[in-house]
Amino acid sequence: MKAAVITRPGLVEVQNIPDPTPGPHEVVIAVASCGLCGTDLHILEGEFADTFPIVPGHEFAGEVVALGSDVRDLKLGDQVAVNPSFICYECRYCRKGLTNLCEIAGGYGTSLNGGAAEFAVVGSKYCIKLPEHVRAIDASLIEPLSCAIRGYDVIRRQMGSHVLIYGAGTMGLMMMELAKRAGAATVSMVDLNEDKLAAANTLGCDATVTSANELDYPYGWELVVDATGNQHAIQDGLGRVDRGGTFLQFGVASYATRATIEPYKIFRNEITIQGSMATLNSFERAADLFAAGVLDPEVFISDRLPLDQYPEAIKLFQAGKGRKIQVVP
Ligand SMILES: [Zn+2]
Ligand SMILES: [Zn+2]
Repeated sequence: MKAAVITRPGLVEVQNIPDPTPGPHEVVIAVASCGLCGTDLHILEGEFADTFPIVPGHEFAGEVVALGSDVRDLKLGDQVAVNPSFICYECRYCRKGLTNLCEIAGGYGTSLNGGAAEFAVVGSKYCIKLPEHVRAIDASLIEPLSCAIRGYDVIRRQMGSHVLIYGAGTMGLMMMELAKRAGAATVSMVDLNEDKLAAANTLGCDATVTSANELDYPYGWELVVDATGNQHAIQDGLGRVDRGGTFLQFGVASYATRATIEPYKIFRNEITIQGSMATLNSFERAADLFAAGVLDPEVFISDRLPLDQYPEAIKLFQAGKGRKIQVVP
């Protein structure tokens, strides 16, 4: 089969590799689509995975085309989305219920072969069946949506909050859609890229600006979300949290990124600084919300490239163009 392969840090190419066969509790999925995400760039840069070569892609969905001998809950032809994160249930964090912080910290597309391929082999327990009206080619959006839901799970929130989101990429836009559903009074977005702001406008964002200085919120915002991982955005956002408010670090920063906090202000204003990492018990809910139409795939998916063009898709993504970029085998 054809697959995108990261052979070593910095190098990705499309290769022919052997077709996967399922173990007893696994299924083979004919991939309908696979989304690219910042995590893929970190892997390509050698930051996460130490096992090369690897087929990247942790956002994927498709059709079950082969079943392991002990698979009972799926059948051939089922359309499924894949929850790619491993859960060991043995480490300290899994046993505390914090499976997203598992010490094994692996997954399909990050430590084992993922979905940027014609076929992917995954444990059946990582598959969730899609209702009939959801197209598998769109359903690779469920994984990032489940991360956004985790982001919303960890914050203190109240109806009527004013929300400021840095970064109008896919994740920022998903956070905006959830904020609206969760009863935000207003959602404003900051991004340096006018094209991305245009998409936010299309989706009904209340204000889109290239600098939060353009906005008139003298108290600040009850919830400030960084969906960029960018040092300047993070630093700016930390200073704009209202008293009693929360700053959510949702974007993936590089290891070296640093920001300064003002401990007195955090104390005096009872500010919460909160992180949110991947997904925790949020994949099922993401699938339900997706099936309920919380995201418009036509807006969220800006580019669909053939699998052969995976390296070009990476370049497009690195250029910061578009929203969710997918490869389609
Ligand atoms: Zn991702
Ligand atoms: Zn664990």
